[in-house]
Amino acid sequence: MARPILLAVDDDVSVLEAVVQDLRRQYGAEYRIMRAASGQAALDTLAQVKPRQEPVALIVSDQRMPGMTGVDFLERSREIYPEARRVLLTAYADTEAAIQAINSARINYYLNKPWDPPEEKLYPVLNDLLEDWKAGFKPPFEGLRVIGSRWSLQDHQLRSFLSRNHVPYRWMDIAANEEAAKLLVEKNLKPEQLPAVLFPDGTTMPGAEPDALAARVGLRTQATQEFYDITVIGAGPAGLAAAVYGASEGLKTLVIEPDAPGGQAGSSSRIENYLGFPSGVTGADLGRRAHVQATRFGAEFLTQRAVGLRVDGQYRFVKLADGREVSSHVVLLASGVQYRRLTIPGAENLTGCGIYYGAALVEAASCRDEEVYVVGGANSAGQAALHFAKFARTVTMLVRGPGLTATMSKYLIDEIERTSNIVVATGTQVITAEGNGHLEGLCLKGPKGEFKVRANSLFVFIGAEPGVDWLPPSILRDEKGFVLAGPDLRRDGKMPESWKETREPFLLETSVPGVFVAGDLRHGSIKRVASAVGEGSIAVQFAHQYLAGF
Ligand SMILES: Cc1cc2nc3c(=O)[nH]c(=O)nc-3n(C[C@H](O)[C@H](O)[C@H](O)COP(=O)(O)OP(=O)(O)OC[C@H]3O[C@@H](n4cnc5c(N)ncnc54)[C@H](O)[C@@H]3O)c2cc1C
Repeated sequence: MARPILLAVDDDVSVLEAVVQDLRRQYGAEYRIMRAASGQAALDTLAQVKPRQEPVALIVSDQRMPGMTGVDFLERSREIYPEARRVLLTAYADTEAAIQAINSARINYYLNKPWDPPEEKLYPVLNDLLEDWKAGFKPPFEGLRVIGSRWSLQDHQLRSFLSRNHVPYRWMDIAANEEAAKLLVEKNLKPEQLPAVLFPDGTTMPGAEPDALAARVGLRTQATQEFYDITVIGAGPAGLAAAVYGASEGLKTLVIEPDAPGGQAGSSSRIENYLGFPSGVTGADLGRRAHVQATRFGAEFLTQRAVGLRVDGQYRFVKLADGREVSSHVVLLASGVQYRRLTIPGAENLTGCGIYYGAALVEAASCRDEEVYVVGGANSAGQAALHFAKFARTVTMLVRGPGLTATMSKYLIDEIERTSNIVVATGTQVITAEGNGHLEGLCLKGPKGEFKVRANSLFVFIGAEPGVDWLPPSILRDEKGFVLAGPDLRRDGKMPESWKETREPFLLETSVPGVFVAGDLRHGSIKRVASAVGEGSIAVQFAHQYLAGF
């Protein structure tokens, strides 16, 4: 935090200098001493430091100044810094006027000039006022402020991005926070420009989106080198493992990831079955640790999304969302899967406005004391239900099948049974979602027929599918979009015609030589953190063998 300001105001240069010197000598280590030669100049100074949220603790002003008297200035300064302590410097002849001003202008104290020796006549008074100011002072929040609406998809995406990247921010819901409305006016922002980000330096970003915000919050978006040995796409468990092994074994490694490292596991509240973590580890923590480890070995991370891939001889070019390209000999596809969307009426319009895909942990606090619905019966739905049960009044799990045993790990089923505010509604599915601007109700179909419930939040976990639209057709996939690799490339015992190499593909190599795949994105993969980590690690061995053939 910037040091709080003590402001001295006097039109007489020698008196002003004397005040400043005395203040600096006693308070210079803890406070910033500023000066102004008139009431108007002092008001301008206050108006300048206010948007930067710099605290002003004390204002000392002379009374007799041309243009604006000390009393008038101190009264007006209250509009800008109401909590600053205000002291009037007066000549003996003005004492009566000063006493009256204590009431009319709410001045905290007046001092007669001269104040020598300051140890007796100045500091005891100011110490007292400053102690008083400190007791009521709340340091301003130093991180970003996000003004938005709970019921906005863009707002939800922005907050998820900041949370997952561990960027401190304060969220101000325009519908529930009076200060947010005031700030909007102060910053000249219009409601249609939400979500807006307010930076500590006083600048703003209206209509903020994660990609644009990444560079402003210190995340790297541009590669430092022209060429890498291996480009890893996705920093989930598979990509992070590849980054750790690749970089530690001397490969120049670049990782492309639009979100925080951790992947799907990053949104999972607690992974309890990953080797070596007997009391579980949050996905975010695992991601953070692996990120630090890979960076320590020299891997470079870019906060970017891959949107294209092309091959030119021995070079593979990955196109990034901002239009730039990065090149390498080897590419590892480790971009995992995305949640499958609900296709019921109403779901599309209400996405991000009450309907969320995945754990959406950032919404947990907003669901306090509400009824929360979770769709799905697999481990991810169970983990989310347990997490939301800490905030919500009740969590209802909507499970299509007859129970959880066929789809969920036993340790999670046991924990759900022990949690009194989780209800498991089996044989039940969502038929429609309703709401004006945000989710307000659901129509459900259970064993006894259709019925309606009021609902503000629905979290959906109905399986996942690969997001591979950006890959060229030369990367062969199965009918569901999962990428084929190694022996799975053979159809009826034959390699595809596009495969021109005289050698067999490596185990995790796709139909394009030098492009590998690991983790959930691979056809036939086991959807587990450990298997993704295993595949990411061994992909690096195949990359070495591929590079050795040059
Ligand atoms: C809620 C939940 C709970 C789970 N719990 C467990 C558990 O307890 N134990 C367990 O073993 N497994 C669990 N899993 C499964 C496990 O998380 C996955 O199997 C694992 O994360 C797969 O790792 P991955 O690296 O292949 O892909 P992902 O984890 O999906 O990571 C892929 C990464 O690629 C990024 N990406 C996507 N597209 C692009 C692009 N175009 N450009 C750049 N980057 C891109 C994504 O942002 C993402 O970070 C859980 C999954 C979920 C969703």
